[in-house]
Amino acid sequence: MKYIDEYRRREHVLALADLIRRESRKPLRIMEVCGGHTMALRRFGLHSLLPDHIELISGPGCPVCVTSRQFIDQAIALSRQPEIILTTYGDLNRVPGSSSSLEQEKARGGDIRIVYSILDALTIAAQNPEKQVVFLGIGFETTSPATAAGILKAQMAGLFNFSVLSAHKIMPPAMAALIDQGVNLHGYIGPGHVSTITGSKIYDFIPQKYGLGVVISGFEPTDLMQSVYMLVRQRETHRPAVEIQYNRVVTREGNLKAQQLLEEVFELRDDWWRGLGVLPQSGMAIRTRYADFDAGKRFSVEIEPTREDKGCLCGEVLKGLKKPTDCKLFGKACTPSDPVGACMVSSEGTCAAYFKYVTIQ
Ligand code: SF4
Repeated sequence: MKYIDEYRRREHVLALADLIRRESRKPLRIMEVCGGHTMALRRFGLHSLLPDHIELISGPGCPVCVTSRQFIDQAIALSRQPEIILTTYGDLNRVPGSSSSLEQEKARGGDIRIVYSILDALTIAAQNPEKQVVFLGIGFETTSPATAAGILKAQMAGLFNFSVLSAHKIMPPAMAALIDQGVNLHGYIGPGHVSTITGSKIYDFIPQKYGLGVVISGFEPTDLMQSVYMLVRQRETHRPAVEIQYNRVVTREGNLKAQQLLEEVFELRDDWWRGLGVLPQSGMAIRTRYADFDAGKRFSVEIEPTREDKGCLCGEVLKGLKKPTDCKLFGKACTPSDPVGACMVSSEGTCAAYFKYVTIQ
């Protein structure tokens, strides 16, 4: 299989569905912890090909969705400082804070710029030496190596008017917390992009400690159906394990260079996750030796008290306890063009995926 079409070939997908139906006997609740998988599963309608006793549940794998409202409020407070140019990925721009959003602040005159990579933010810093340029670093091990590289690049280039507000997180503590908090699961579809960096070894504790399987999956329909089949096999044979379906990209050891970059620039800290609360050693703080590039340390701003929206079920959606359609606001007060919660904003959000694909089926 070399080309994308082959991964989408209808007969292959249906053959895998048939295999699953023939071999699966036991109830199986599988969570995908990657927003990209959530979107792909919904986009290709793969749920509808599975027997009723196999349930696919979306988890906390959308970086925008799990980012705290307090972080958004802090970013908004920074954007109100006249000397600061705030740079961010587009999705974060529309996430509601307690009383505003970055999009609204921009409309009010804040200098907030959408960037496609941290390199764009470095360019803005180089072009505006009289200003302070702050980059909002969010996401898991997929995006944090680029942030780490950006900080090192800024140091080498002497761009001391550049800094990062980090909300980067790592995935394993969230996967453990879901089980510890009693979410009923039999296995995980492991994140494909995160695992290219970390390797599969970071999930070893899940079968060892919890007796659940993890299959790291690609993003095409045959990838995902094969991953479900691998989890079916694990469940039916009572052999939970960490397996790599996405082996054209993911290895057991991962990308060692990227891991070194992360180790150089970041250290773990306790961090807050929407839906899961504070999880020990789950967030990535910029190490003291790079404090010059840590916007959280460099700028002291007054942050308004955090207010969560009443009625938004994002927290429970992220834990797989509720479906977006269980939310009374879904598709009414909350839509992608006028989102109430982060899960409806992000291109990887579960509510956005349901809105885009499920309601039109
Ligand atoms: S539909 Fe909107 S308000 Fe409801 S859980 Fe999803 S994002 Fe939150």
